[in-house]
Amino acid sequence: MPELPENVERAVNIPLGLAKGLKATFMTMLKPAVTVQYPRVKETVAPRARGVISLVEDNCTVCMLCARQCPDWCIYIEGHKDKEPPRREGGKPRTVSKLDRFDIDYGLCMYCGICVEVCPFDALHWSPEFEYSEPSIADLLHDKTRLGQWEQTVPEQPGLEAGADAPKGKKK
Ligand code: SF4
Ligand code: SF4
Repeated sequence: MPELPENVERAVNIPLGLAKGLKATFMTMLKPAVTVQYPRVKETVAPRARGVISLVEDNCTVCMLCARQCPDWCIYIEGHKDKEPPRREGGKPRTVSKLDRFDIDYGLCMYCGICVEVCPFDALHWSPEFEYSEPSIADLLHDKTRLGQWEQTVPEQPGLEAGADAPKGKKK
């Protein structure tokens, strides 16, 4: 095929490109939208979605495992040892760990879920709740009270598989 002069080729290619672009635009306009008009419309997220982490304070033994494993170093824990009466009459007084501070900084968290996985005492759970954006990044630090409140939004956990060990809780 003989080669077209450059100006003729350009004159042909411009409307051709424009037609292709408009075709793509119209085809997309005819497809149903995959986005929603948040916050007027809210999507129903999967029940096990990683929205926010909740804390069951009574289960936490202040073992620090979650804080040590967190790749972002965004879990801050402080605790102290306390004496409690013996479980049995005549026994020794027990030394128990008490939680003073448990904060998660959601301004740093990358939602990897490692802390939830490694907790040996089932003290951390995922909630699908995601509406906790803040005008100030400093307010994304959730303390143990706020983390405990998220527990209300944690969906019912599926039952254990046959033969599985029951989760360990803190001994009272
Ligand atoms: S989800 Fe990951 S990044 Fe976030 S607090 Fe837990 S371990 Fe850290
Ligand atoms: S939340 Fe779990 S892993 Fe973290 S300090 Fe408490 S008991 Fe240990």
